[in-house]
Amino acid sequence: MTQIRRILADLVRIDSVSSRSNVEIVEYLERRCEALNLITRRFPYQDEHGIEKINLVALTDDVDEVELALVGHTDTVPYDPHWSEATNLTERDGKLFGRGSCDTKGFIAAALTAVENVKTTRPLALIFTADEEIGLRGAKKLAEAKPLRVRYSIVGEPTSLQPIRAGKGYSLAEVIVKGREAHSAYPALGASAVFRAARLINHLEAIAEQLKHDQHDAFDPPYTTLNIGLIHGGSAKNVLAGECRFTLEWRPIPTQPSEHVLELFLNAIETESETDQDLYCEIDASRQDSGFETPRDSALIELLENVTGLESGTVAFGTEAAQMMVLGSESVVIGPGDIREAHRTGEFVPIHELERCAEILRQSIMQLCSP
Ligand SMILES: [Zn+2]
Repeated sequence: MTQIRRILADLVRIDSVSSRSNVEIVEYLERRCEALNLITRRFPYQDEHGIEKINLVALTDDVDEVELALVGHTDTVPYDPHWSEATNLTERDGKLFGRGSCDTKGFIAAALTAVENVKTTRPLALIFTADEEIGLRGAKKLAEAKPLRVRYSIVGEPTSLQPIRAGKGYSLAEVIVKGREAHSAYPALGASAVFRAARLINHLEAIAEQLKHDQHDAFDPPYTTLNIGLIHGGSAKNVLAGECRFTLEWRPIPTQPSEHVLELFLNAIETESETDQDLYCEIDASRQDSGFETPRDSALIELLENVTGLESGTVAFGTEAAQMMVLGSESVVIGPGDIREAHRTGEFVPIHELERCAEILRQSIMQLCSP
């Protein structure tokens, strides 16, 4: 077995589902990095269940500013306990099956392999984060603490090795609309929260149309999208609903502040209040993850387009690239495997992409860190 596959098999064997502590996989990565003479630094925190999580930074030099960072998340989504390959990397038809094989342990194995084979003259970091799959929480902790500055970062996510230079953000809110319960035979005695929510949702549909005018051509679709995925209200068919809740999710293009949609929605609520004076509505905005965009003429993008022979693209989902930008970095997202194969039973990484990824990273390190 090649070295890269051995490392991937080791990583997949360690169950690092986000709900568990990632200490075990971090200890493994520390041992690997120390064997490569890297300096390791732990950034621990407790998650909201009191479970210890660690972001690990490994450096070629004892510095707090690096030229290049390779970033991979250590956690995975859960897996079906009946899937026997989940923690036992299995080869079939040129593919390696296992949870995390493409999202994102394959990238980590490629990064560790790439670092082994180059000498650097400028500082390089490997950054291994926690809790990416449950809201980029580890990366957000690092972005808050700013333990180092980064000039360029390559963030691992399955992109079939296409360099990705921009990503939409992700925002989520729960909207709680209050009404007044009453017997449905006497509607004048109460106020239906469901009718109120419906009127607000009409406004949101109009806002979704309005958002189409602010276009960013690099994306498909080229504008901020909005979704109401869940709605729940009322207690019985013959009672005016006292409460109605719905989720409001939007994916802003990186040129638009995440609060823009909220502002439009607040204006709509104000308009409604003019005719419905005791309209009461709470907005619990729980996520405001910004998108990211690196200019097409950035040295990093040009480098990766050259090395891969592929034109850079964009994605409509959130990645840790936005947090890396907070650390001062121009970012690109790339990794072996297909995002459509991630997060499901039968996740796999094609072996040739895994090996090719190590080569792409090796060349990137050579050009940026040992010119
Ligand atoms: Zn991922």
